[in-house]
Amino acid sequence: MSSRRDFLQKISLSAMALPLLPVSDALNLEDIYDKPYDGPVLRVAIMGLGSYGTRVAEAMQSSKKAKLVGVISGTPSKVKEWQTKYNIPAKNSYNYDNFDRIKSNKDIDAVYVITPNALHHDQVIRVAKAGKHVICEKPLALNAKEGQEMVDACKQANVKLLVGYRMHFEPKTLEVIRMRNAGEFGKISFFQGLCGFRIGDPTQWRLNKELAGGGSLMDIGIYALNGSRYMVGEEPVWVTAQETKTDPQKFKEGVDETIMFQLGFPSGAVASCLSTYNMNNLDRFFLNGEKGYAEMQPSTGYGPIKGRTHKGELTQPHMTHQTVQMDEMADIILNGKKPVVPVDGEEGVRDLKVMDAIYEAVKTGNKVALK
Ligand code: NAD
Repeated sequence: MSSRRDFLQKISLSAMALPLLPVSDALNLEDIYDKPYDGPVLRVAIMGLGSYGTRVAEAMQSSKKAKLVGVISGTPSKVKEWQTKYNIPAKNSYNYDNFDRIKSNKDIDAVYVITPNALHHDQVIRVAKAGKHVICEKPLALNAKEGQEMVDACKQANVKLLVGYRMHFEPKTLEVIRMRNAGEFGKISFFQGLCGFRIGDPTQWRLNKELAGGGSLMDIGIYALNGSRYMVGEEPVWVTAQETKTDPQKFKEGVDETIMFQLGFPSGAVASCLSTYNMNNLDRFFLNGEKGYAEMQPSTGYGPIKGRTHKGELTQPHMTHQTVQMDEMADIILNGKKPVVPVDGEEGVRDLKVMDAIYEAVKTGNKVALK
């Protein structure tokens, strides 16, 4: 308790000195975690009770504004287990065939889709048609066209669509963004994002093009891509990219093992990024400006995130990313709160447009212009 108080004090003290966007306001951490909360609660069903779904469910137990109330799964034994563990009533439990019936369930506001990438498109559209808000894991879809169809379907159904970009609520990340907005790094010239890990089991869906849609870029390189955009604070205008493959058995056609990509921004800033399924110890961001820098390592893992700038260590404390994410997303959905970095469907599509261009650049060897 006292360490949480300490951290909240630390965070609000540092926020008091901030000329722009105070992090505590942006995150409402004190409101959420230090005061009793009796406002509206977003009632969420998780679709896909796998490893990340389990992590989100656990983290949501500490959320004040979001509550796990339902499940959608194809595995009856998991449904039973979750019903017992999280006190989920049978009437809020669905499978992949019957979840359209969620439409008539007044006790569920939103569905969090946490299934393999290739399933997101159809599942999100079905949830939207059932009239429920949707949170969808990254990547939102396999390409920008699919992503746009999801955005359009949610608009048409008058429901919100958010993407599970948990880093957009991470305090050290937000502090670097605040510093950049305040001009503390001067003109930004360069960003480096290195994201990867050595993937194991060759039979998993992440290495199956049908379910994954691609390889490391879809799964982990997206952090470097998305990070380039929120760290530089601009939208890229061109892309170049190269692929290397050391194990074509494991990484079959259409499943990228390692991709290096470079992005150019309107201001002249450039980004150089690495996405890989074949190297460990790669979770690093570096942002360079004419007056200073920020470096973060780890930069996008589950944390604690560590980092420093030319002014010293980043001291914003760690909180479980998915807990803060769910509280903030509840606020966005229920109260129209505007996050510092967008997490809406359009934000997901922006990443997918760049991703499409990266794959095109790999294929053609050309520099690809982005509109
Ligand atoms: P996982 O394999 O652990 O879980 C996937 C779940 O989907 C399983 O419960 C599985 O039974 C279910 N499923 C439904 N239909 C399926 C089908 N046809 N084939 C295979 N599985 C099917 O995967 P995960 O690690 O939980 O990843 C799920 C999603 O979450 C992915 O889109 C991934 O990119 C995303 N993810 C995000 C983060 C993050 O930090 N934001 C971290 C991990 C995963």
